[in-house]
Amino acid sequence: KPSNLPMAQSSSSPLPPLKFEAKPASPVFDPHGLDPNLLQKIAYDALVCSSLRGLLVGDRASQKSGTVPGVGLVHAPISLLPMPFQESHYKQACEVAPIFNELVDRVSLDLNFLQESLARTKKVDAFTSRLLDIHAKMLDMNKKEDIRLGLHRSDYMVDENTNLLLQIELNTISSSFAGLSCLVSDLHRSLLHRFKQYLALDPKRVPENASANQFAEALQKAWSEYNNPRAVVMIVVQTEERNMYDQHWIFTLLKEKYPLVRSIRKTLAEIDAQGELLADGTLVVDGEVVAVAYFRAGYAPTDYPSESEWSARLLIEQSCAIKCPSIAYHLAGTKKIQQELAKPNQLERFLENKDDIAKVRKCFAGLWNLEDSSIVQDAIERPGLYVMKPQREGGGNNIYGDDVRLALQEMQKKGTEEDAAYILMQRIFPATSPAILMREGISHKEQVLSELGVYGTYLRNKERVIMNNQSGYLMRTKVSSSNEGGVAAGFAVLDSIYLV
Ligand code: ADP
Ligand code: MG
Ligand code: MG
Repeated sequence: KPSNLPMAQSSSSPLPPLKFEAKPASPVFDPHGLDPNLLQKIAYDALVCSSLRGLLVGDRASQKSGTVPGVGLVHAPISLLPMPFQESHYKQACEVAPIFNELVDRVSLDLNFLQESLARTKKVDAFTSRLLDIHAKMLDMNKKEDIRLGLHRSDYMVDENTNLLLQIELNTISSSFAGLSCLVSDLHRSLLHRFKQYLALDPKRVPENASANQFAEALQKAWSEYNNPRAVVMIVVQTEERNMYDQHWIFTLLKEKYPLVRSIRKTLAEIDAQGELLADGTLVVDGEVVAVAYFRAGYAPTDYPSESEWSARLLIEQSCAIKCPSIAYHLAGTKKIQQELAKPNQLERFLENKDDIAKVRKCFAGLWNLEDSSIVQDAIERPGLYVMKPQREGGGNNIYGDDVRLALQEMQKKGTEEDAAYILMQRIFPATSPAILMREGISHKEQVLSELGVYGTYLRNKERVIMNNQSGYLMRTKVSSSNEGGVAAGFAVLDSIYLV
């Protein structure tokens, strides 16, 4: 286990000592100790509930499950029971959500900060470079986004040694699982209720989670700011999406609660083929005026297999549709910007309130660029204490352990500028605990660790902030032996929290 990793945000400042926070008593109970008969009953109920309540994903085994709804469904991978989580950490993560919302907004307006921070990265990372090109085009056009909508998710792990809640990353594009995560909280609460006499856990300790409703509300409010009753909300999707029910939940709630708001579902290729820009900047796709373009695609290079997809992205950006996210919001969520903001005196450029700055900074783990030769040297000597991250989203892109050393040495040997594609981050080691993970109808006893995501919704029209809220949470739990383990990749499951 690591003991003396520097926590500094930059080598230019001296390394402060590790801070520690008091830890509460350990887990409430051990799910591995459950009576096998009881376990079977709870698991059976969990599977029935998930299926009936729409806690579902497309089944990988079924060919059409990523394109046709209602075909090849399987319950979402879940943890059978909620994960004990310290209440003070939960409150801390909720409290900073509106501050991070504001921070993203401020950073997005600093056009030069985004371009300059990513200038070295641009030279070696073709994908980020193209995003920056779109951003630069908007600069040239002097494009202003008056109405700005953010649907973010800030992710955290609790470092076991220090008991500090540390941010893993902040997602500003395609923050997933807002549609399903509230269903997991509901499921866990009802299981605790139903099996009360056996489990002796209080259902009220699973916090309220209205993530799907709050995302729907934010989309409706943005639509309403656009102020054209005939316009639609357009969700931009991948051609195949096994996580479609997560998205359909948000749009089903949008329809049910706000019957006036119509929506359409389009891929980037379809938008390129069916989209046009009117002289006044109105975006029309398939004959519909688009009020809001909500991206659940476009965050990965594979989302742009041809020039069509890039021209669709540019078309949307040039239009006066509200983009969630705008190109500037997208770039503000890159790992490189996270690392730049962690440098001394950077937060002060964007936030005024000293308490807010302190609260945000408290969540920052050690973050460094690879120009910092002393950190690179340390990472070569102790690679297990670091994670190397490129400017990518969606999981499966980071480098861990001995591969960190190999990658760094390779780059040193080549002497290229390839290092600018990456940042280095302190590796966080959360406590592990026993849990029961449900996948494809089978329960697995595993040793796990968890990552808490807190959703944030932000809507503003010029100087008027219409929404700035913490909007529910997502716990993801993975087997402790896995470095990354996305939910889709089959290592992690959806979870909720039990406050202790
Ligand atoms: P992505 O945008 O691809 O989700 P993340 O920064 O969230 O990138 O990294 C993916 C996963 O890698 C996280 O969900 C977490 O499990 C693991 N991870 C990322 N950073 C760290 C870290 N500093 N310490 C430990 N694990 C990490
Ligand atoms: Mg991400
Ligand atoms: Mg992530």
